[in-house]
Amino acid sequence: MSGDGGPVVGRLSVVGVGPAGPEWITPEVAARLEAATDLVGYGPYLERIAGPHHRVHASDNREELARAMHALDMAAEGRDVVVVSGGDPGVFAMAAAIFEALEGAQAQRWAGVEVDVTPGVSAMQAAAARLGAPLGNDFCVISLSDNLKPWSLIQRRVRLAAEADFAMAFYNPISRARPWQLGEALGIVREAQGPDTLVMLATAVGRGEREDVQISTLGEVDPTMANMSTLVIVGAASTRVLERPSGRRHVYTPRYVESAE
Ligand code: SAH
Repeated sequence: MSGDGGPVVGRLSVVGVGPAGPEWITPEVAARLEAATDLVGYGPYLERIAGPHHRVHASDNREELARAMHALDMAAEGRDVVVVSGGDPGVFAMAAAIFEALEGAQAQRWAGVEVDVTPGVSAMQAAAARLGAPLGNDFCVISLSDNLKPWSLIQRRVRLAAEADFAMAFYNPISRARPWQLGEALGIVREAQGPDTLVMLATAVGRGEREDVQISTLGEVDPTMANMSTLVIVGAASTRVLERPSGRRHVYTPRYVESAE
């Protein structure tokens, strides 16, 4: 598949390894990892998956564009490069960074590199599955990190999504620089949806004893319980708790919404 741009000289795949252990790595991703010569990504992810035949290029979690360009350079040398993201590579992760590089000033030097993206289980899917089906109706997904966009835009998106009665999944709820972001975002939802709205903090889902899943309400939740490994799900008006005969509680959003008229 070289299109009309000349011969393919290298390959770069962006893959998602899921939010936790190997059981959430798809067979397709496992096959791409196995075939690769070079793995590029955030150190802790690579430790989970690197084999003896891989050259490993670990980097800091914040240097995404530099990492993307380095990976493309290696692919242009004819190597079989896999860029690794946690979760899904298209959700607040490396796939978009690769395309940003491919649209940048230096794109010509990667003209012969074939690029593909292989999906993974995203944290919101793992967290939702643990809870039941809180994202069973319309929902939206917002990163609360203001590293790459203004906080005022995040406020606006949260407010409009709450007014439209979406369930919501918040990624990156807390950062060291801005520990107040989650509390403020939940406050915005509370203004539109009220204090009984369900809010779930799902931390380190799939990571054994570190996993912690809390079911709360906007009126009662303590945002400081969240950390950088927490996925926050805010319910819509129809999201509810179902208690089974065993006492186990599930959170779900029905597929239907009753007409307000
Ligand atoms: N590409 C990733 C998201 C990267 S952003 C994906 O699709 O999942 C990093 C954020 O993902 C974290 O701040 C947290 O909100 C969420 N996250 C990643 N792994 C998680 C896990 N095991 N449990 C809960 N949230 C997780």
